[in-house]
Amino acid sequence: MSGEKRLPNDRGRRTGLGLVAFVAALLIWGSAAAPAEAAVPTIWCGVGASAADRLPDPSGRQIHVIYAVPADGPDRFAAAANEIATDLATVEAWWQREDPSRTLRFDTYPFAGCSGLGQLDLSFVRLPQPAAFYQSFSGRFTKLASDLLSGFGSRGKKYLVYFEGASGDGSGVCGQATMSLPDLGPSFAAIYLGVPGCGTLGGGAYTATTAAHELVHAIGGVPFGAPHRCADSGHTCDNGVDLMHPSGFGDESIDGYVLDVGRDDYYGHSGGWIDVRDSLFLRRLDVPQQPLTVALSDSVGGSKIQSDAPGIDCPTVCTIAWDGGERVTLEAIPGDDRRVVRWTGACGGTSLTCALTMDRPQNAGVVFGPLSYPGRVLIAGGGRVTSAALGFSCARSCTGRFDADRTVAFRALPARGWAFAGWQGDCRGKNACRLRFDKTHTIRAVFKRR
Ligand SMILES: [Zn+2]
Repeated sequence: MSGEKRLPNDRGRRTGLGLVAFVAALLIWGSAAAPAEAAVPTIWCGVGASAADRLPDPSGRQIHVIYAVPADGPDRFAAAANEIATDLATVEAWWQREDPSRTLRFDTYPFAGCSGLGQLDLSFVRLPQPAAFYQSFSGRFTKLASDLLSGFGSRGKKYLVYFEGASGDGSGVCGQATMSLPDLGPSFAAIYLGVPGCGTLGGGAYTATTAAHELVHAIGGVPFGAPHRCADSGHTCDNGVDLMHPSGFGDESIDGYVLDVGRDDYYGHSGGWIDVRDSLFLRRLDVPQQPLTVALSDSVGGSKIQSDAPGIDCPTVCTIAWDGGERVTLEAIPGDDRRVVRWTGACGGTSLTCALTMDRPQNAGVVFGPLSYPGRVLIAGGGRVTSAALGFSCARSCTGRFDADRTVAFRALPARGWAFAGWQGDCRGKNACRLRFDKTHTIRAVFKRR
């Protein structure tokens, strides 16, 4: 006998993320003899340890990876970075084997000298509390998520946290994640390093399996409606080799696992429930990427354009490639005293957002303009200039600001003994002067003695 399996004690829970979620655990029990053979050795070529998410990001949603240690924990980052890169490269290779058309969208950074997950944008976080604070399995996940949320709270990101500090934990639980919406961050998945029986980081074995398992939870999981969903948790209970089976032996290679046995529960199924394969946290490899180019007329007052998922952050990043077919929503953010005059290119209208489908190269732009324009009224002789709509009455020279694109009518009213001789400047003739404030205007009312 090589061991036994046991169902986990998953439990309903609410996180602080505003999502109805529950924590799902990958639990191990016992041990088996199959060695790991699948590891994809990877050297991390990042420079230094960054506690923050490095920018810029590649396009689209991102899985950002964090290595976290308690305040008093040993700093093993230099070694752990290579081990994490190796495990995740192994996960990536396994995912390609299971589905050649998709890959996980890990957040990378263009470190010189390597490619692939050697370029993982890996953060190193020293947590605010000592190891004892996180020691108990109960409540640990919530503590980690709340400690990390202030620095890692992007709507476009899922966060995979390697927690180094669970070594005395006898729970047998190797990782946890919030089961959350497939396309919306932030949400967290955690791997507890050092739990006896949960494998050793860097071998592409059980820690890699756990990473893949928790990431699937984080990008949709095994939803209600899946025919083989376990009665008491967001796992599959039909086959022990399924990645989303609730428990394993603790030392198997990820090679021995299958991404949704029968493709009928959570990945590539034909049912109407959530399908992890559709998650925007997966990059499509079966359709070409398409460039999106965004232009803005100016960045006066801090005006900019951003995409809903990380990518476009114009004026800094205005051209980027997106997955073919992905839907991108651009948001125009006018700066102080600025507004959207109009969208150009593939977008139109004057609203703040524009949605595009990246089934071909796309160009879009925004013309920003002032919220208001100055108007100057000069008076020669005896009389006043009024605007009934604005309650405006000017007896000498006046200046004011007028809402952009508003059309304003001015009337000239001579004083007793004076007659209106006509407009000068931006108005002509003797009739009421109507001006549209799409630019600065100056008008002069000339009165002559009778
Ligand atoms: Zn699980």
